[in-house]
Parts: sequence; structure tokens; C-alpha cells
Amino acid sequence: MTNLSTLQTLAKKHGTPLFVIDHEQLRRSYALFKRHLPRVQAYYAVKANPNPEIVGTLFKAGASFDVASMPEFMIVHKYIEGMPAKERQDWIWDKIIYANPIKAEETLRELDQYKALVTFDNSEEIRKIRKHAPNSGLVLRLKVPNTGAMVELSSKCGAAPGEAVDLILEAEKNGLTVEGLSFHVGSQTTNFDNFVQALNLAANIYKEAVDRGYTKMNLLDIGGGFPVRYDDSVKPFEELAKLINSEIKRLFPKEIQILAEPGRFLVADAGYTVSKIIGKAVRDGKLCYYIDDGVYNSFSGIIYDHCKYKIESFKKGVKEICTVFGPTCDALDVISMSEELPSNLQLGDLVFSRKIGAYSTASATSFNGFPPAKIVHINV
Ligand SMILES: *Cc1c(COP(=O)(O)O)cnc(C)c1O
Repeated sequence: MTNLSTLQTLAKKHGTPLFVIDHEQLRRSYALFKRHLPRVQAYYAVKANPNPEIVGTLFKAGASFDVASMPEFMIVHKYIEGMPAKERQDWIWDKIIYANPIKAEETLRELDQYKALVTFDNSEEIRKIRKHAPNSGLVLRLKVPNTGAMVELSSKCGAAPGEAVDLILEAEKNGLTVEGLSFHVGSQTTNFDNFVQALNLAANIYKEAVDRGYTKMNLLDIGGGFPVRYDDSVKPFEELAKLINSEIKRLFPKEIQILAEPGRFLVADAGYTVSKIIGKAVRDGKLCYYIDDGVYNSFSGIIYDHCKYKIESFKKGVKEICTVFGPTCDALDVISMSEELPSNLQLGDLVFSRKIGAYSTASATSFNGFPPAKIVHINV
């Protein structure tokens, strides 16, 4: 854990709103993932936090990457360019999966030169890939139950199980090779059974494909959704990993390469905000603090990620339930209506939040003229 006095010192030096990324914690989260899922190669989902320094640290630690747009692809590719030339082609599949099943034609035209691994989930996409990126390797994205995930993803992506093998054979008829299957159980999935169901569903489709004469699949991508322990109600990662390991061992041949696309899990714990109290009022009998960071900025996950963040103060004092607002004039800019903070906080005092590395600065804007928080890296 980053020392709290470090956060205060950094805020004094750089001002607020401040967003601190602890690279030692990035390495710890990656190591935790690898330790418990040794058979699984982690493709960090760059959308969770596309900061290039984060990508760099995870690259160095041995991670691969899941990208969903050409700009994300290029952030990662820059690191691949540092590899010896003759190995680069091998590096592509080992290091990047383009995991957005819907790609614009111009994106595919650009992607083709890289002979990338790309996901798809419908016939129209097969025709697009054949025409514009025929050198790609394909991975079929399956629709799987997202019950109990904090963020549901299955309504937008994924082939229905009943049409999966038809799509695989259709791709083959079009001269393309489907290398394997992928799914996403929903983000922040605390219902571990989603993974079990998805793995069983994928295994059935593997078997059906083989029965119908398609034997070229050699990889399984188990997606993202690995939950962060925002509070103790989330069971430890070890338990989930044990379940996944035993299902994979039971359902899939040893030769199959297993990939995953953890986003939140690798970055959430590494991010901290430090904000300053810029206003204090009592409204309808309730204490309200106004701070210089909000939902249009580092706390954007409150809106887009359905996430809650605890606001903590450095200063001690008798606590009461209060509201914490962001700095803009918009009534949507509410960080919490029920935060327990000391009632003696003064203008200029600092507050902080932990576990805010994922889906936070990634979707920040500068609404109302308030610029995004300054990002500072520690333990790089
Ligand atoms: C968002 C996303 C991820 C990352 O999900 P997390 O819940 O953050 O682990 C992985 N894969 C795909 C295809 C995604 O859309």
C-alpha cells in the first residue's frame, strides 16, 4: 500500500486534483494474477486505463494486451517495435489481441499489415475481414451469461451458442482461420459461477466444431471480469482462480493456449486520487463538501462504471454523514450522498480515494472548463 504521507507530499508538490499511479502495485497485481493462473497469459485490457506508462510497466513484467481501437493498438505496438525485427511477427499474436468484434473497414485496412489476431461475432464481419484484413487470425466471441456482473457486456457482443459453429465454418469457407474462442463474463463479476458456465459453454462449442470437422482451434480466451476487492464482500481472487484452473483442466486439452483479458484487476488497486476541499455548506441540514475532482474527471467511473469510491480524509475528527460534490455546476456531479467524513474539515484540506485506477481517468473529460487531474507515477 502506498504510504498516505506520500500522497500528501505529492499533493503539496504537484497541487490538486492529483491522480497517483503506483507501479509497484501494478507489478504486484500482475504477479498475483500469474501466480494463481499460471497457465493463463494475461492480455491487459488497455481500455481500463490506457496510460502509456502503465502499458510499459506491464509490458516489462511480461503481460500481453487486449486493444479495441487503432490508437490503443499503436500504444502497445510501440513497445513491440523495440523487439528484434525478425521476431516481430511472432510477437504480434503473443502480445496483442484486437478484441473488438466490430471494426470499421478503414480500421481493418490499417490492421491487415500487422497480421493481427482479431475477434468477430457475425457474418457481416467475416465479409469485412475477408475483404480488408485477410491476413488476420480470427477468434470467435461468444455470448455468455453476465448475471451478477457490475457492468453487463453481453447485450452488445457475442455470437449465440447455437450459431457459433456455423460462423466458424463460414469463416473457413471464406478462406479465414478461426484460431479459437473468446468470451467476457461481464465486468467486476463477483458471481464466480459465470466463469464456470462460460467455460462449459465454450467447451461444448469446441466439441461441436471438432464433431463437424473443424480442428484448427488452438486457443481459448477467457476474457476479463476478474473482480477487484473494493470491499470485503468480494471473495478472494485465489478462490476464483482455483475454480477456473480446475474447469480448464477438466474441459480442455493440455495443448490449448489459454488467454485472459483482465482490465480492472490489474490497474484498480494502483490508482489513487488526492483532492482538495474547495467549498463547505450545510444544505437541508446536511453537511456538504465540494472538492476539486468529480464525475467529469477522475470519478467518471461513478457514471460509466457504476462504481462507488470511498472518500477518506487525512485529518482525524468526529465523523458525520455528508454529501461530497464535484466542482462543476452540474447536479449530476455528485461523488457520494452518504460519505462518513470528519465534520471539522476546512477549505484547503485534502481528501483521497484508493482503488481508483480502472475506468477513471480513462473516461475523464474537461467539462465546465475544469482540466483533468494531473497524473503522477510512483515506484516506476
Ligand atoms: C472491457 C473488456 C475487458 C476488460 O474487462 P475487465 O472487467 O476490466 O477485466 C476485456 N475484454 C473485453 C473484450 C472488454 O470489452
